Amino acid sequence: MDSYQHILLAVDLSAHGDYVIQKAQHLANIFHAKLSIIHVLDNIPMPDTAYGTIIPLYRDSSYELLEAEKSRLMQLGDQLNVDPGCRWMVWGVPGQEIVRIAEREQVDLIIVGSHGRHGLALLLGSTANSVLHHATCDVMAIRLQDETTHKQSAGKDSAHSITLNPKTA
Ligand code: AMP
Repeated sequence: MDSYQHILLAVDLSAHGDYVIQKAQHLANIFHAKLSIIHVLDNIPMPDTAYGTIIPLYRDSSYELLEAEKSRLMQLGDQLNVDPGCRWMVWGVPGQEIVRIAEREQVDLIIVGSHGRHGLALLLGSTANSVLHHATCDVMAIRLQDETTHKQSAGKDSAHSITLNPKTA
């Protein structure tokens, strides 16, 4: 297998993402690769910088959500020992932003989770599918399963992930 030097882990910061995180950490250790993480803000309105930062300050506001997501990303970065300069939080469409940052930072492996819900969707979720079709580097899609299935299939790691090279896919 090729050696990877820079791995980008895409996290949606949901609980089921833990499995993807563990895999990314494991691979980064195996390859002695630099690890970057990215979270794309796709559910929080971007502050309007032209007219000042318009953020409502009531409970459950965008501002609080933003702070909460930032804090979770920072926690994850600390947990994985990711250099502060390699922790990305950007606004936009997850698939597009993951690929953009990967290219900009010369990443050679992107790791995403895949729910495998629908269609080809049996294997790839929407974000994973988008990343695969637009990335110029390798993409590893880690199959996400619910807690029950995880417990039943403990020890059968190889059945949960697939590495796809867009040049040959
Ligand atoms: P989805 O196909 O959108 O359900 O998400 C599957 C995977 O895509 C997640 O496990 C993450 O690796 C990645 N992903 C989804 N949403 C985001 C996001 N907002 N920021 C970064 N990565 C994401």
